[in-house]
Amino acid sequence: MFENLSGRLGNVVKTLRGNARLTESNVQDALRDVRMALLEADVALPVVKQFIADVKERALGQEVIGSLTPGQALIGVVYEELTKLMGAHNDALNLAAVPPAVILMAGLQGAGKTTTSGKLAKRLKEEHRKKVLLVSADVYRPAAIEQLKTLAAQLDVEWFPSDVTQRPVEIALAALDHAKRHFHDVLIVDTAGRLAIDEAMMAEIQALHAAIKPVETLFVVDAMQGQDAVNTAQAFGAALPLTGVVLTKMDGDARGGAALSVRHVTGKPIKFIGVGEKLTGLEPFYPDRVASRILD
Ligand code: GDP
Repeated sequence: MFENLSGRLGNVVKTLRGNARLTESNVQDALRDVRMALLEADVALPVVKQFIADVKERALGQEVIGSLTPGQALIGVVYEELTKLMGAHNDALNLAAVPPAVILMAGLQGAGKTTTSGKLAKRLKEEHRKKVLLVSADVYRPAAIEQLKTLAAQLDVEWFPSDVTQRPVEIALAALDHAKRHFHDVLIVDTAGRLAIDEAMMAEIQALHAAIKPVETLFVVDAMQGQDAVNTAQAFGAALPLTGVVLTKMDGDARGGAALSVRHVTGKPIKFIGVGEKLTGLEPFYPDRVASRILD
């Protein structure tokens, strides 16, 4: 998923490793290459600027130039700053609420909300031994409700029925009531997404949020969207108190820029990445591992 970026940065890394001595002008050259590599990977411009400024400040100081192995030291600085940019450590789901802990899924249509709802249900059931309830509040696409029902059946997780004649808030409240009465640990609420952000959609999900007070509000975004992923994230972040991001389709030929930008732009942690269409295709996001993969 980071082949392109990794390849380009790999060249910079190789040159640096071969350099026994680094001058200010070598450093400038290396940083110019890093900047190009990030831009070509679709990292948002303000993020690239800040990143380069941070690396430069450290790179021109004694930490690098004065080091015995300056090339290696500069690679170390780039690695650390990349990790920091993506959030430093993994943020797990926060389910420390009086059960049922409610998870609200937000995002555009096609981002992967329904699939991710299923994937999360699987993780919570199998790894955390949670009793999960799935419900769809997508009253615009009967197929979306059916899709979630099918996933729930595959996972042997309970599905709360809903249909297109109901209002989303009404569905979610009924599901919450059911979850309370049947001692579910977690309720995952899948929501409608539009092809583009519109006011009606935002108002609807804000009303849902207010009604069910989720402990996690996850913004699901398609990593293949590149720069658009950042704009969408900003819009959702402005409308909802997001608690985390799920970057989907990281198995595709996404250039990886979204992974590097989204945390910086939204201030919210990337909690998971989607790495396939199957229900097993969800991984916790570890910034340090991703940074080493990029610089491999
Ligand atoms: P929703 O409209 O946001 O609910 O999106 P869906 O869950 O229906 O997903 C849209 C499409 O993206 C489906 O074909 C999914 O199989 C696919 N998809 C979702 N997540 C991933 C992922 O991590 N990797 C890949 N390759 N495909 C995904």
